[in-house]
Amino acid sequence: MDTIVFATNNAHKLHEVKKMLCGNFNLLSLSEIDIFEDIPEDKPTLEGNAEQKADFIHNKLNINVFADDTGLEIDALNGEPGVYSARYSGKEKDSQANMNKVLDKLKGVENRKAQFRTIICLILNNKKFFFEGIVKGLILNSAQGKDGFGYDPIFQPKGYDCSFAEMPLENKNKISHRGLAVVKLINFLNTNIE
Ligand code: IMP
Repeated sequence: MDTIVFATNNAHKLHEVKKMLCGNFNLLSLSEIDIFEDIPEDKPTLEGNAEQKADFIHNKLNINVFADDTGLEIDALNGEPGVYSARYSGKEKDSQANMNKVLDKLKGVENRKAQFRTIICLILNNKKFFFEGIVKGLILNSAQGKDGFGYDPIFQPKGYDCSFAEMPLENKNKISHRGLAVVKLINFLNTNIE
């Protein structure tokens, strides 16, 4: 079975992606290859950050690797928080504070349209490939649901009447930004790895 590293230590993401790979690949996280340092992600775009993270591991270990970067892009906030989604409130990855900042900024705002966008950068046999996944939806007026992570409780995907945090993971994966990008990645891997 082919081994591929997912350059993340986010347990939620790893669980989501492992579930989708259905055991076709031996997927390893950073902790499983004994990398515990923080990988730099200081580029101004999702593409730049995904590439930076994949490059970091590839340069270190010369193995097949992919990395993702995701942003929540809100229409009425000119695409904010976007590439700054993880640290929008200023605090390191504080989801509650990040959601509160979004809800405060959108108080009284009618246009609630938003999208999650994921970029995956894959380095396979020393070549780079990019995959994009987008899910459109609305920002709710308050947090709903307990599952998921990040901004899930305040994001309602288009065509549904619940938040991402109220959906079973299988359902979220079928329509989510990362789910769609991962499907593109898996289809590519299935046709390019013997
Ligand atoms: P990352 O760079 O891919 O880790 O994503 C940046 C930030 O976007 C995370 O810290 C989360 O706050 C948010 N985020 C990413 N993916 C999701 C998701 O599937 N649901 C909710 N929030 C997410």
